[in-house]
Amino acid sequence: MPKIALKSLAAAGETLELAASQDPFAPESIKHLVNRYGSPLFIIDAERVRQQYRRLSAALPGVDLHYALKPLPHASVIKTLNDEGAFFDLATNGEVELVRRLNIAPQRCIHTHPIKRDSDIRTALAYGVNRFVVDNPDELRKFVKYRNRCTLLIRVSFRSPNARVDLSRKFGCEPDGVPDLLQLAAELRIKIDGLSFHVGSQAADPKMFVAAIARCSEIMRAAPESGHSIGILDIGGGFPVDYLQTCMPIEEFCEPIVRALKELPTSVRVIAEPGRYISAPAAITAASVMGRALRDGCWWYYLDDGLYGSYSGQIYDHAAYPVEALVDAGKTYPSVLAGPTCDSIDVIKEHLELPKLDMGDLIVGRAMGAYTWASACEFNFFPRATVLVLDGGRLLTDGSPE
Ligand SMILES: *Cc1c(COP(=O)(O)O)cnc(C)c1O
Repeated sequence: MPKIALKSLAAAGETLELAASQDPFAPESIKHLVNRYGSPLFIIDAERVRQQYRRLSAALPGVDLHYALKPLPHASVIKTLNDEGAFFDLATNGEVELVRRLNIAPQRCIHTHPIKRDSDIRTALAYGVNRFVVDNPDELRKFVKYRNRCTLLIRVSFRSPNARVDLSRKFGCEPDGVPDLLQLAAELRIKIDGLSFHVGSQAADPKMFVAAIARCSEIMRAAPESGHSIGILDIGGGFPVDYLQTCMPIEEFCEPIVRALKELPTSVRVIAEPGRYISAPAAITAASVMGRALRDGCWWYYLDDGLYGSYSGQIYDHAAYPVEALVDAGKTYPSVLAGPTCDSIDVIKEHLELPKLDMGDLIVGRAMGAYTWASACEFNFFPRATVLVLDGGRLLTDGSPE
C-alpha cells in the first residue's frame, strides 16, 4: 500500500482549516480547499464516516460491523471506524499491511477473500488474523497445514440479478454443496465455525438477505451431523446508498433483515461486512475545468479528473454520481463534461444543461466515497486526486502513526 502523499500539509491537524461547524462539503468549503490545495481533490469527511457507521449499527442492533476496506481503503476511514469500535474485513496483503500500520487489533479483523495464495494466508496469520473464508474443496485443502491456527467460514452463493454488482456469480458455494464441504472439512480436521454470503453490492431490496438468512439457518441446523458447530453468520455487505436515484432508507431496508435474524438461535453471532454504505456518502470530488471547446453546438468541458480517475466507478461499479457545477445560475447551454485523458471513452456526462463555464470553475461529484478513488489509475500520467480528510474543521493527515 503506497503511502498517501499529501501536499503542503505542514500544519495538518494543528489548526482549524474550516470553522468547526462548517460542512466540508458546502460550496464555500470546497472553493476554499481548492484554493489552498489545488485540484482535483477527493475530500473525505470523517464525521460522515462516523454518522454512516452509527446509523447502520443502530439499524442492525447486535450485529458486529466489519468495514470492508475495498471501496475506500484510506487510513483515515479505518482510524475513524476503529475509534467507533468497528471491526474490519480484509481481502489482500495490502489491506493487512494497512491495518497493521494503523495498529488495528488483528482479532477485530477477518480475511474474506474466497481465493488465496499460500502467502496471503501466511501474511494474515502472521499478523494474527485467524478467521478466513473458503468456498470450494481446493481452497479448504490449503488450510490443512494451518488447521490449528484458524477457523473458517464457508461462503454460500445466492444469485442476485437485481443487485448492481452480483458477487455470487464469481464466488460462493451453492447452498446444496455446503454439506459436502462440511464433510470434507471434518475429514481434514479443519474447523468451520460460520457461514457467510454477499447478496451483491448496492442491493435493490432486502429480500435476498431474508432468503439467504433463512437458507443459512437451515444449513446451520444440519451442521452438527458433520461434527461442526456453526456459531457465526456473516451477512456480508451490499447495503445501498443514494446516488442519482434514491434508495430505501437504511432503517427500512434493515427491518426485515433484523426480523429474519431473530429466528436464529440466540447463541449465533451475527456479523456484516458493509463497505459502500459507510464510505460512499463520506467523500466528494472537486475537479476544475482545464479547457473547453464548442463542438456541434455543444460546450465540451475538459476537467482535471475523469473516468480513469475518481470517476472510474462509472465503469467498474456502474454508478452514476450526482454532479454539479459550483457556479451561479444563469442561461444554460447543452454541455458535456469530459475527463482529461486523450482517450475518447473518458467522458463523465453528456446531455447536460449548464451555465457557461470558465477555466478553473469547479465541478463537484457527490456520493463518491465508494469504488472511485480506490479504482482510479494514473493513465496518461494524470495524477489521482489529492485526498484531504476533514474532521470538525481540522485537516487530518492520512492518520498513520509517523
Ligand atoms: C466488496 C465486498 C464487501 C463490501 O460490499 P459493499 O457492497 O460495498 O457493502 C463485503 N464483503 C466482501 C467479501 C466483499 O468482497
